[in-house]
Amino acid sequence: MPNPLYDALIGPHSTSDAVFLHLACGSDVSFRAFADMAGRMAAALAAAGLAKGDRVAVQVEKSAPALAVYAACVQRGLVFLPLNTAYTGAELTYFMTDSGARALICDAAAAPALAPVAAQTPATLMSMAADGTLDTGAPAPPCPDKVIDCSPDDLAAILYTSGTTGRSKGAMLTHRNLLSNAQSLCDIWEITDADRLLHALPIFHTHGLFVAINTSLLAGASVIFLPRLDMDDLIRWLPHATTMMGVPTFYTRMLADPRVTHDLVAHMRLFISGSAPLLAQTHADFLDRTGHLILERYGMTETNMITSNPLRGDRVAGSVGLPLPGVEVRITEPATADTPPTIVADGQTGMIELRGPNVFAGYWNMPEKTAEELRPDGWFLTGDLGCIDARGYLHIVGRAKDLIITGGYNVYPKEIELMLDALAEVVESAIVGLPHPDLGEAVVAFVVPQPHHPPDEAGLLERISPQLARFKHPRAVIFVAELPRNVMGKVQKAQLRTDYAEHFA
Ligand code: ATP
Ligand code: MG
Repeated sequence: MPNPLYDALIGPHSTSDAVFLHLACGSDVSFRAFADMAGRMAAALAAAGLAKGDRVAVQVEKSAPALAVYAACVQRGLVFLPLNTAYTGAELTYFMTDSGARALICDAAAAPALAPVAAQTPATLMSMAADGTLDTGAPAPPCPDKVIDCSPDDLAAILYTSGTTGRSKGAMLTHRNLLSNAQSLCDIWEITDADRLLHALPIFHTHGLFVAINTSLLAGASVIFLPRLDMDDLIRWLPHATTMMGVPTFYTRMLADPRVTHDLVAHMRLFISGSAPLLAQTHADFLDRTGHLILERYGMTETNMITSNPLRGDRVAGSVGLPLPGVEVRITEPATADTPPTIVADGQTGMIELRGPNVFAGYWNMPEKTAEELRPDGWFLTGDLGCIDARGYLHIVGRAKDLIITGGYNVYPKEIELMLDALAEVVESAIVGLPHPDLGEAVVAFVVPQPHHPPDEAGLLERISPQLARFKHPRAVIFVAELPRNVMGKVQKAQLRTDYAEHFA
């Protein structure tokens, strides 16, 4: 029996001397060297007693060997479970206990600090040397790099969600989920072995791992593999790239750097953005500066990518585009999955639901949560609100959990944020509901002002109020130097709600 992901992503290039990874230090890793490294790791994990279906937690800095652990897990039918490198020992304990991981792989330097964490869980701590050698505690493996049979429905990974709306959930992703999505993305973005992707994203998240790496492996494209977003590195490597994937913050940082010019990126084929909303202003400014229209797409840990603006058709600012091939998207009255769906009228806002081969197998260890969000007929409730326009483009309005109910009225933050963001004195804004004694929740605007023309509260409200029903008027404007964001550029509204919970007390 075959191994769908291995056979599509690793096997076809395992004897190729073409470059897979261009490292920031200037050295290269060929596809063959990558597959060999993964094979050695796969053998070491097997020799340590890990068997098909075992979860392998991995908390390592971004590196070629870190990526090879993913390939090794695929090869052995192990469930790859990457963890944010920022997680502390206490957080790791939750993920290790929740997932029941049998191994925790860490960088050699981190091993002493993580030993007590692993000791509290059933996992064996394994340290990884800079050359990718795994110290599993077991004798060096004699066995060659065998590929384990897997079915399309076998789990390939458990990826924890970003924790933006609550505790992170472990999304169970199958070979079919990952492979079908990589195939669709290669098709619609026309990724080929002539591409060289500039990669400065973390590899513990679906964006940097599956969207970026699975597509590159599938197409045999090479990857400029940078440890993080560093503008000097980016400027040095952009001339060698054909495509780039980033979160919106990458693009705002690029716009803040005068070295990013039309000439620097004239040869580029495609800039892609996702993981958080791209401001229409960023879209327009980037076009102005570089001549490139950023292609925005939408996805989630649970579903891989869902929609994308077209490569060759109209890329619409403020929209996340059209459903991927094989993916169905519909808009329903917000409810849980045990209530029959009510499809909203054309163009109306509601819950974004989708169905397709990309939709995960459920949340690890959370059957109730899975039942709330995944309908028995395969439709998944994203928790995002949006609408589909007459041309079929999806527009995200925000997360259902960020919907504000003030005095009994629903307020969609995005509507007000767009008005504020359009003002010259405003860099960006976040509209949040804070507890209020009379209203239940009050609409509050967090505003990052333009440094050169700082606005005042009354002036701002005067400008937007005439266009808004009275119940939507912000009750307060709070000026902040920046919005709290995680590493994926997602605004942490829950943090604002907690930090300012007493504002109206
Ligand atoms: P959690 O589920 O733990 O609260 P999270 O939803 O932020 O965290 P991810 O799976 O990393 O975790 O992110 C998926 C979410 O990111 C989507 O549900 C959507 O809200 C947002 N998102 C992704 N791409 C876009 C985009 N292009 N525009 C707007 N939002 C986006
Ligand atoms: Mg989510």
